[in-house]
Amino acid sequence: MVIELKKEVSAAQAAELGVRNKCIVFEDNGIQVLVSASSLKTLPAELAPFTEAWFPTSSDIQLASKEYRAQRREIDLGFARIGGTNRNTLMITGPCSVESLEQITQSAELCVSLGIKVLRAGCYKPRTSPYSFQGLGLEGLKLLAQMRDKYGLQVITEVRDASHIDDVIEYTDIIQVGAKAMYDQGILRRCGQSRKPVLLKRGFGSTLQEFVQAAEFVLSGGNPNVVLCERGIRTFETKTRFTLDLCGVAYLKQYTNLPVVLDPSHAMGYAYGVPDLTRACMAMGIDGLLIETHPTPATALSDASQQLNHAEYTALYNSLKPVAAAVGYEMV
Ligand code: PEP
Ligand code: MN
Repeated sequence: MVIELKKEVSAAQAAELGVRNKCIVFEDNGIQVLVSASSLKTLPAELAPFTEAWFPTSSDIQLASKEYRAQRREIDLGFARIGGTNRNTLMITGPCSVESLEQITQSAELCVSLGIKVLRAGCYKPRTSPYSFQGLGLEGLKLLAQMRDKYGLQVITEVRDASHIDDVIEYTDIIQVGAKAMYDQGILRRCGQSRKPVLLKRGFGSTLQEFVQAAEFVLSGGNPNVVLCERGIRTFETKTRFTLDLCGVAYLKQYTNLPVVLDPSHAMGYAYGVPDLTRACMAMGIDGLLIETHPTPATALSDASQQLNHAEYTALYNSLKPVAAAVGYEMV
């Protein structure tokens, strides 16, 4: 159950009520909010005098649920808003990894040439093998910061583990929690203390319930700026890298109040399929599209097979405009 306390209830009072009633407590827009387990269906008598509104929920998808907040949450990125009543599709692109100044500059220039405001690239790569390229680490973060300063872009990069989370939060405008880190509650809780938007990717073996409950760790820490990212789940199919769960996207749009971004690149795993899949995603009416691009994909140090070259991405970008318009969305 989500319990919004009256405006005059102080943080100290709320903390005390929270402990006595086994609730998480956080502040939302100057209001203290308690969240109990969803098994609680009636408001405890002790809380009644302090309570402004209360919302029983049918599962531990609570803060992210339309049962609590029927209006979709809006995220203000400064240059545009996604979610809420907006029909904006945030275009996010860049290489899988920051590799060099020259490479990331070319990626930034692709963004500028298309009017894209968000450059994404990894610096701490959660590779399946310890012998593969692991990312440039802090040096990569600094290169991204350079791109932000030079081109006025926002940057997004992934946090792999707790050792560098503060650096990632400091250097990026949007924090990416990758599929492999979706269950890392240390990362999720630390993201909950920030107010920067968090792009939370679905673990490839996670149910929708587990996915959205991961988002609850961030939301219940007090950070309302969570974006869900579907990036493909593992199925019996091996011809494609993963299977993009568009049914799951329909579910998330129907039952959660969070913006949803799609990542067709990691789902498909092969560049040849990315344009068609991307147009299919756009046709669903979604809040963002994350697509991996590289100046020379064949030489990429990670995810080489799935990245589009800049000419391919530009062609895709232009082909998306009528699809967006057909479903009443605008690319931002
Ligand atoms: C990535 O975004 O480059 C990445 C590693 O993706 P995922 O976490 O979805 O595997
Ligand atoms: Mn990648």
